[in-house]
Amino acid sequence: MTVRVPSKINLHLSVGDVRDDGFHELVTVFQALSLTDEVTVAATDDPGVEVYGEGEGTVPTGANNLAWRAVQALAAHVGKSGDDPKVRVVLRKGIPVAGGMAGGSADAAATLVGLAALWKLDIGRDELATIAAKLGSDVPFALYGGTALGTGRGERLVPVLTRHTFHWVIAFDQKGLSTPRVYGEIDRLRAEGDPPRIGSHAPVVEALSSGDPRQLALLLGNDLQAAAVSLRPGLRRTLRAGVNAGALSGIVSGSGPTCAFLCSDAQSALEVAAELSGAGVCRTVRVAHGPVPGARVIGGDDAP
Ligand code: ATP
Repeated sequence: MTVRVPSKINLHLSVGDVRDDGFHELVTVFQALSLTDEVTVAATDDPGVEVYGEGEGTVPTGANNLAWRAVQALAAHVGKSGDDPKVRVVLRKGIPVAGGMAGGSADAAATLVGLAALWKLDIGRDELATIAAKLGSDVPFALYGGTALGTGRGERLVPVLTRHTFHWVIAFDQKGLSTPRVYGEIDRLRAEGDPPRIGSHAPVVEALSSGDPRQLALLLGNDLQAAAVSLRPGLRRTLRAGVNAGALSGIVSGSGPTCAFLCSDAQSALEVAAELSGAGVCRTVRVAHGPVPGARVIGGDDAP
């Protein structure tokens, strides 16, 4: 059973104060992008995880892999615990690892959807989302995709109406950034001074329903950007280079270091990507569009 699953960017990411459980209270607008991973799950006598593509050789293949944690969580949920589940998971990664685009979460969501089909479970997306939320804050969004407002740790979702396909250029940095480190840095910056915080999400939601990329471009905002740039100062140059190449605006995606550039249309995105590739400010450049659907089966017995 093979499942395609989107990456996410945060069009708006407002980070509140630290809660008693150590997480920050977030208000975020997610958009699912066509930069995807493909995850194949199969019954086997030789259980485990294989990783190809982005991050091959650096992503853990043991019990720490989020996809494997999804196997165990779903097995426990349906009473298949006991021996290790007899499942092989193959990840073909297009989403940058530790890039702020929730690649690991995407793989966990895809594994839940793939296994539900493989095991012919009578289980809806909302029930899968309950298991997903326990695996990580970004896992439920990867199940639903589209565009959504996320609150809490980002796991409480409400769909947001969008009237347009938006075109993006994605710049991968040389290496990843640890999400906990970036949150630690925003706490440090806030303890030292008071870096500006982005305002309400309401104007972004309005711009999405109007479908005008120029209006949306003015409103992209990420409270974690200052922290990511503080840890990786070269991102300033990347963000400038994207706008100089013709993007409407650029933003650090989530906890970074990946940068996302909003373009006026598909043709402009191709031109910006070509110019940015030559600018020498990042490792890889991709074009993507959004919103796209969440994790869905594309191959295997139940494929559409
Ligand atoms: P987020 O935006 O949700 O914070 P991210 O996109 O920055 O996440 P991921 O690619 O999800 O980061 O991975 C973060 C870390 O999780 C990696 O450094 C890796 O060690 C570990 N990891 C576990 N499982 C996976 C997986 N399936 N794919 C990628 N990384 C994984």
